[in-house]
Amino acid sequence: MADSEAWYKKSHWQIIIGMLLGLVYGLIAAAAGWSKFTNDWVAPFGVIFINSLQLIAIPLVVASLVLGVASLSDLKKLSRIGSKTMGIYIGTTAIAVVIGLVIVNVLQPGLQVPEAARTQLQEQFAGDVSAKEEIAADVQTRGPLQILIDIVPSNFFSAASSNRNMLQIVFVSLMVGIGLIQLEKAQAKPMIDVLESLNHVVIRLVDLIMLFAPIGVFSLIARTITDLAGDDFSQILQLLTALGFYCISVVLGLTLHVCITYFGLLKLVTKMPIKTFLQGIAPVQLVAFSTSSSGATLPLTMERCEEKLGVSEEVSSFVIPLGATINMDGTALYQAVAAVFIAQSMGMDVGLTGQLTIVLTAVLASIGTAAVPGAGIIMLVIILQSIGVPSSGIALILGVDRILDMLRTVTNVTGDASVAVSIASMEGQLNPPNLSEVTDHIRTH
Ligand code: ASP
Repeated sequence: MADSEAWYKKSHWQIIIGMLLGLVYGLIAAAAGWSKFTNDWVAPFGVIFINSLQLIAIPLVVASLVLGVASLSDLKKLSRIGSKTMGIYIGTTAIAVVIGLVIVNVLQPGLQVPEAARTQLQEQFAGDVSAKEEIAADVQTRGPLQILIDIVPSNFFSAASSNRNMLQIVFVSLMVGIGLIQLEKAQAKPMIDVLESLNHVVIRLVDLIMLFAPIGVFSLIARTITDLAGDDFSQILQLLTALGFYCISVVLGLTLHVCITYFGLLKLVTKMPIKTFLQGIAPVQLVAFSTSSSGATLPLTMERCEEKLGVSEEVSSFVIPLGATINMDGTALYQAVAAVFIAQSMGMDVGLTGQLTIVLTAVLASIGTAAVPGAGIIMLVIILQSIGVPSSGIALILGVDRILDMLRTVTNVTGDASVAVSIASMEGQLNPPNLSEVTDHIRTH
């Protein structure tokens, strides 16, 4: 059956229109020097949009993961789905890094940056680099097992008070879920009832927040453009000319990864047509693009996977929050390209050992990267240090990082959704609604 709803009522079109208008406004504002007006009167709506998504992300992760684990009824099933999920997440991330490395070694974008542009970029962003270095140093100056210590919070509420501690929230939720499995049914029921109700409320809130999405993305895109340009519009063009090859390498890598790895995985283990998959998650990708945060996008990713792609609640509530926290293939790929690009443009050779070190550190760094804007470049400092490249080199790429952040976040959420669909299919828990429903987007009553 054809979908009778007018195209402009569909949420993905509304979001696209919001983005395009934001782009047009942003370009005009940048050219006319309206960045103060934009900051004061346009940007706040984007902040409100991201805040409201992040506001529901933590209750959603807690409710859905606890219920997800508790519904797995026995620890055997939990460990089966858990190990499959982790295996695919880590495997696809490693493939992403390898794709990134192949591209950056073949295209060698680092050899294309003109000397003058390199010096200028390094001077221009020197201050920003030291701020990122400080945060990265904080992450790095700890012992080898600190990464494990960091996963276990000593206080649930302080963990829940920051969107950067999602891994701790995931850990606590998994533990509470495991605790619930071991209780008598009657003992577990009251808590399960409350969490189920919370889960439903949060999913309904996603619908409400998404009504505001077109305005939210308009404001986010407008702000991004004016931020990139400052009051000097020609800066964007200069940056893109100097770093064009680098940007192309990242974008090409991300595209190949989505087409080869994710579509390949879907073809291999599910019967779902790629078109259906893409129609189902289009709004998720658009929101990821505009917010640059897979954490903020998480509530929508879950809703779309369950309601439009037919992933069972049992699978989605376990696989997707975990993925939003640890599965960042786009980030890992970008980090590999960026690390080698910086080395190349500084005239340094990253031999085979260096490349292997990148595979390992980028996989680990992407697991530890927070699902918020700009987190990937902070972890990049650690990768650079592990291969002996001065971290001041990130000055070269800071100017275009926001654009690439938007694209890698799209890849990150696409990865979470395709793994969720694949695991659901392997578990016999994928019941896609028929195609006409898939094309029907979020309610716009
Ligand atoms: N912004 C990305 C995300 O939220 C992380 C990154 O900076 O790479 O998925």
